[in-house]
Parts: sequence; structure tokens; C-alpha cells
Amino acid sequence: MDDDLNRAPCGYLSLDQAGVIWAINATLEAWLGYPAQELLGQPVDSILPVASRMLYQSYFTPLLISHGQVEELFIRFQAASGQEEPLLINAIRREKGGQVCIECILVPVRRRIQYEEEILRARKEAERAARMKMQAVEALEEAHIALEAKQAELLEANARLEALASQDHLTGLKNRRVFIDYLAFHIAMVKRSPAPLSIILIDIDKFKNINDRYGHPVGDIYLQRLAQLMYDNLREIDLLSRYGGEEFAIVLPDTDQSMAALVAERLRSAVLLADWPQSPITISMGIATYTSEIHSDVALIFLADRALYASKDNGRNCFTHASELGILPAVKQPR
Ligand code: GH3
Ligand code: MG
Ligand code: MG
Repeated sequence: MDDDLNRAPCGYLSLDQAGVIWAINATLEAWLGYPAQELLGQPVDSILPVASRMLYQSYFTPLLISHGQVEELFIRFQAASGQEEPLLINAIRREKGGQVCIECILVPVRRRIQYEEEILRARKEAERAARMKMQAVEALEEAHIALEAKQAELLEANARLEALASQDHLTGLKNRRVFIDYLAFHIAMVKRSPAPLSIILIDIDKFKNINDRYGHPVGDIYLQRLAQLMYDNLREIDLLSRYGGEEFAIVLPDTDQSMAALVAERLRSAVLLADWPQSPITISMGIATYTSEIHSDVALIFLADRALYASKDNGRNCFTHASELGILPAVKQPR
């Protein structure tokens, strides 16, 4: 073998027809790690691992016989170290000095396999990362949906709480707290841009008798009917509330003393003429109208309450305006 072939940067192997090694160059010898003397005269399949040996016998040899050559066959050799050496083999079968000779050129593909493995690993990693990202996005979307549902629940619960905190459960009217808030709000408005504002406190006359004679449940029905009756006789802007027990309170925005008296009279006669389950009832009322001397919601309620007492004293089934009491100038900021 000439020196150039011996040291070429590829492996060279020459076999006889039976696959016995005739020649091997120094390059292949170095890759496989066997001394040449050990290999020469040995069948080539003695340095092939089992899988490669099958490939050699069932593919390499028949192809050489039928086509005279084999191109780019990937095959593993068993190195002296015990490691398998992946090689790409090109072989031709030809006559040389009257004998059949098989000449093979081999190049290592370890690097290429490494690259392919790296590419495969990188692709798997990228696919895993994409999967994780998808999962994270899905989890985020689920969390977002759950959060929105919780927020909706919270809003609903808040609305329910708000309704509970502001409503009287027997009559469905707003409660005393809402009455005070609404009144304070309107007093603040009136202080900024003057407009008439009145309130009416209402108390059922001798209501205890209804309970005593017909029972508490019937009393409850009276309270519900009266609430509805008064509500039907008021404007949207008026706030009718259950002030407590058998007492009610109304805020009448944009309503001066004479208009408030008309409202009170309308309520009084409506109650008188209404169809009650048992005995008829009447109501007494106290009216107060906001003036610059009054200053606060508490003062206005105080005056309306005094006027209500006056109505009771006057025989009930009537209304009194606080201005008739002669106490107005004395009531200043009772807080
Ligand atoms: P007056 O004309 O002086 O106001 O007499 P009155 O009997 O209405 O007054 P009193 O304060 O003595 O009685 C009020 C009654 O209202 C007593 C109480 O049992 C009744 N009452 C208060 N709240 C309710 C309620 O929610 N349901 C029923 N059925 N009765 C109630
Ligand atoms: Mg009362
Ligand atoms: Mg009463």
C-alpha cells in the first residue's frame, strides 16, 4: 500500500471475495485500535457487532454481488476499546490480478451523529418548552376565568349584602339608615344650591290594638299594605323608608311646606279610604321643611318628630307642620 493511501484522512479496507481482510490502512487501524497484524487474514465480520454483521451479510455482500458496489452504507465497527465506531462505507467489487477484490473507503460519522443527536435533543427541548408554555397559557386562562367568576360572585354577594343592609325585610322598603343617608345627601345639595326639601314622619294610630285584636301576623300584613299604599302615592324621587316599628319616614326633595302638606293629606285620605283586612287604621304625621336655620338632618328629624307628637295630641289621623309648633328658632344644631 502506498504511503498516501496509508495515511489518507479516510479508512481503507481491502477484502477478498469471502470477506477476509487483505489490507487495512494506518488511519482505519488507528480508529479501530487493532494492530494490522491482528486483523490481516481475519474475516471482516469478526470486528463487526452483531447488528452490523447481519447488515453485512444480508445487505452489503448481496449488493456487491448484484451491483458491484455499495454507496454510503452506515455501519458500526467494533473497536478494540469495546466501543462501537460508526462509519460510512463506500465499496466496490473488482478484479485485481485475476482475483475478486472488495475495496472499501470508510469515513467516521461520530460527529454527524452527535450533531444529529444534539439537533434531536434541541428539538425535543423546544417541543417540551412549547408544551409547557401552552400549559402555562392554558392554566393562566383558567385562572383568569376563575378569577372573573370569583369577582362576579363577589360583586353579587356585595350587592346582596348592600340590599340586606339597606332594606327592611318585612315591607321591602329602604331602612332608617338609607333614609338618614338620603336626607343628609339632599341637605348637602340644598346647602350648595338652594331648593325646597321636606320630610314626613308617619306613625300608625293605635296600632297596638290591631296586634292585640287580630294577632301579630295580621299586624304585619297591615304594615306591608300601608307601605305599598304610601309608596304608590309618592314620586320616584321621594324616599319612603320604614323608620322603625310602625313608623315610616319620607324624604321629599324639591318639596316646600305647602306641597308637603298636600302629600301628607293625600296619604292620610288614602289610608282612611283603603280596604283593610280587618278594622280600618289611620295615621298621624309630622312634617318639617328645611330652612337655613335648621342646619342638619338630626335637627330636621327632631322637628318632624315633635310635629308628629303634636298630631297625636291633636287627636290623631292628621298632620302637623313643625312651623306650627313655634319652636323653630330655638332649634339650632342639636348635635
Ligand atoms: P299610637 O297611636 O300612640 O302610636 O299608638 P300605638 O298603639 O300605635 O303605639 P305603641 O307605640 O303603643 O304601639 C306600637 C305597636 O306597633 C306595638 C308593636 O307591637 C307594633 N309593632 C311594631 N313593629 C311591628 C311589626 O313589625 N309587626 C307588627 N305586627 N307590629 C309591630
Ligand atoms: Mg310608634
Ligand atoms: Mg302608633
